[in-house]
Amino acid sequence: MKVAHSQGAYEISFLGLSEAFAAVPDGSHIITDEHVKALYGHLFAGEKCISVAAGEQSKSISTFESCLEALARAGATRKSSVVGFGGGVIGDLAGFVAASYMRGVAFIQIPTTLLAQVDSSVGGKVGIDLKAGKNLAGAFYPPKAVYVCAEVLQTLDQRQFNNGMAEVWKYGFIADKDLFDRLTNGASWHARSTQLQEVVKLCLQIKARIVEEDEFEEKGIRASLNFGHTVGHAIEHLCGFKGILHGEAISVGMVAEALLGERLGITELGTREKVAGSLASQGLPTKWDQKWDVPKAVEAMMRDKKRISDGLAFSLLTHIGECKLITGVSCEAVEQVLGSL
Ligand code: NAD
Ligand code: ZN
Repeated sequence: MKVAHSQGAYEISFLGLSEAFAAVPDGSHIITDEHVKALYGHLFAGEKCISVAAGEQSKSISTFESCLEALARAGATRKSSVVGFGGGVIGDLAGFVAASYMRGVAFIQIPTTLLAQVDSSVGGKVGIDLKAGKNLAGAFYPPKAVYVCAEVLQTLDQRQFNNGMAEVWKYGFIADKDLFDRLTNGASWHARSTQLQEVVKLCLQIKARIVEEDEFEEKGIRASLNFGHTVGHAIEHLCGFKGILHGEAISVGMVAEALLGERLGITELGTREKVAGSLASQGLPTKWDQKWDVPKAVEAMMRDKKRISDGLAFSLLTHIGECKLITGVSCEAVEQVLGSL
């Protein structure tokens, strides 16, 4: 599968893990996290490797700096390649390191979480967090190649797997009724589900099409991927990004935004129930178990860096399989929905 962008195109290949490492250019620098290295380090034992702590805390200026220094110490040149081998944290960090080292060296993604396989490894967004907020420093820096390896998902625990499934369901909700039907008929999905690879491919086709049409998030097309994310980001913010995974926050967010759409007369009635039923069948939360601080949640949405208009903007479903960007939604409408959840 090819993804075109302003400077060329890259291929997403579906490979076994050993094949993927064999395809990586000789002398590449692999950036990974300690957890992934403990599981898969034997596959690249002879290679140059920079390993960082697992978790969001590694998307920091200090880890970014230490990766750049490590590349320099290891003698990396303009011709070197950086391989991000890990989840979305590693993909974002390694991509930004690759974009910055000597003004840019080749970058290859080998995503190891379901979330990274269906979402973060494609689209060229790389970056790190600042104290002032998540993903505030970064670049659009497309990879040279993405290698998707099914077998790595088998070491994810079910919670991390479900975290990625929230984004998988999202693609069905926003863009593909057939995918939604396939997911619905597949009972509960897990890493060994026989049709999982097909589903990952369908998700990547949708993401590739959207990012090709709106590479730099300027036309409102890429914003469609944000279904559930306006409320989801507010939840993550209210929790201080602790205790709740991104997929769990957007799962609650998708239910809330489906209700908002129904209330605004944009979403076909009954959609919220389908969205909630699907996510619950995957073991994902559909309600936030804490009491909403509604004004604080709305304030967080107003501060969201993706805000593009007066009032609030939402990617709302018209029905299952299609969405539409709606701008100028009033804070009152959102407050009412959050208050009634
Ligand atoms: P993550 O990278 O922190 O991975 C989650 C956990 O799973 C980590 O502890 C990791 O060590 C472990 N892990 C990774 N692969 C594993 C495997 N195969 N087996 C067992 N454990 C494994 O988190 P994530 O959910 O993959 O990614 C979240 C990050 O992605 C966030 O920082 C988010 O901002 C970013 N993101 C970026 C984009 C983008 O377009 N660039 C899109 C969505 C999310
Ligand atoms: Zn997301």
